Parts: sequence; C-alpha cells; structure tokens
Amino acid sequence: MLNLVIFGGPGSGKGTQSAKIAQKYSLFHISTGDVLRDHIARRTDIGKVADSYISKGMLIPDKLMIKILEDLLVSRKDETKHGVIFDGFPRTLPQAEELDRLLGTLDTNIAAVIGLEVPDDELTARMLKRGAETGRADDNEQTIKSRLAVYHKQTQPLKAYYAETGRYKAIDGMGSIDGIFDKICAAIDAAK
Ligand code: AMP
Repeated sequence: MLNLVIFGGPGSGKGTQSAKIAQKYSLFHISTGDVLRDHIARRTDIGKVADSYISKGMLIPDKLMIKILEDLLVSRKDETKHGVIFDGFPRTLPQAEELDRLLGTLDTNIAAVIGLEVPDDELTARMLKRGAETGRADDNEQTIKSRLAVYHKQTQPLKAYYAETGRYKAIDGMGSIDGIFDKICAAIDAAK
C-alpha cells in the first residue's frame, strides 16, 4: 500500500498531477475540493455549509472536513486498498495529525508528501486562467487573494511538520506538466 499527499498552493497543479500519479501507481485519488464541489452541485446539507466557506476563500472547519474524509475512506475501502493520493488534504495541522492517526489505526502511513513549489504571482495567473476557462466560482480575483493568504497562514506550516519526519519532497512546480510529472515520479520511486 502506498499513500501519498500532494501539497502546494491553490493553482499549483495538484489536481492535474494527482490524476497522473493515480493512474501510474494505481492509487485512489481523493480531492477534497472535488468532493465538496460535488456536494454543492447536489445541494446537500454539507454542500450548503461548504459553499459558505469556499465562496469566501476560507477553509471548511477541521471537524467537518475530517468527518467527511473518514466517511469517504470507510465507504471506499475496496478502491483504496492499493493506496491513496490525498489532494487538498490535509490543509491544517490538526488535519495532518488526524490523517497520521487514522492511517496508523489501519497499519499504514503517508510515505511521502509531494510539495509543488510555485510563486504566488504564477498561482494567481493560473487560477485566473482556469476561472475564465472553466467558470470555477472561487477562481476570481478577490477569492484568490483570500485563498493565498489562508494557504500561507494555515497550510504552509505543514511543510515543516512533514519535513521533520523526512517525508516532504520539494518539487519545482514551474515548467511543463510532463516535466514536473517526471520529477514527481523520481521522488515517489525514491520514497517507496
Ligand atoms: P481545492 O479544490 O483543493 O482548491 O479546494 C477548494 C476549496 O475547498 C478550498 O479553498 C477550501 O475552501 C475547501 N477545501 C478543500 N479541501 C479542504 C480541506 N482539506 N480543509 C478545509 N477546506 C478545504
């Protein structure tokens, strides 16, 4: 079983690279952003709560986010048996600690954290482009500013949490999709 986290700012390429990683290493791709957007599209109770945070560029409260993730892991047990690529989770220290605890109870762990490092001005440009192309609601100038601020304050400190245990693998997230993917694969293969 191989469990990985893909880490980086909003617009750093986590979703794109996760899909490629999932395919190559036969992993189950969990994107918490996609899970929440699906709830919003289906107008569930969780979707209503999630929308009120996502539209402001804020994080969903840890307790709710952790519950959603735990329920998903339990309900998709068969699909996760080769391992999971976690995309967009964890985003806070309590989420990271809970993920380590949860995987520990399943006798497994996070083998590596792939950190896509991209400067803020490039992240902003990529999100504005995605917003124009896809209509994604939180890819607008104002919400992007909040998402970047939240990332630096609440999520970036996780880099130190994973670096302490030798799991953080920094990857230069600038360049072509395939070029970045090759560097990611080299880091994963060295960590396996
Ligand atoms: P993403 O698609 O990963 O950029 O996530 C879009 C939005 O969903 C974020 O800006 C947050 O509002 C919310 N979200 C996704 N994952 C998490 C998480 N692990 N914790 C809290 N909020 C999250």
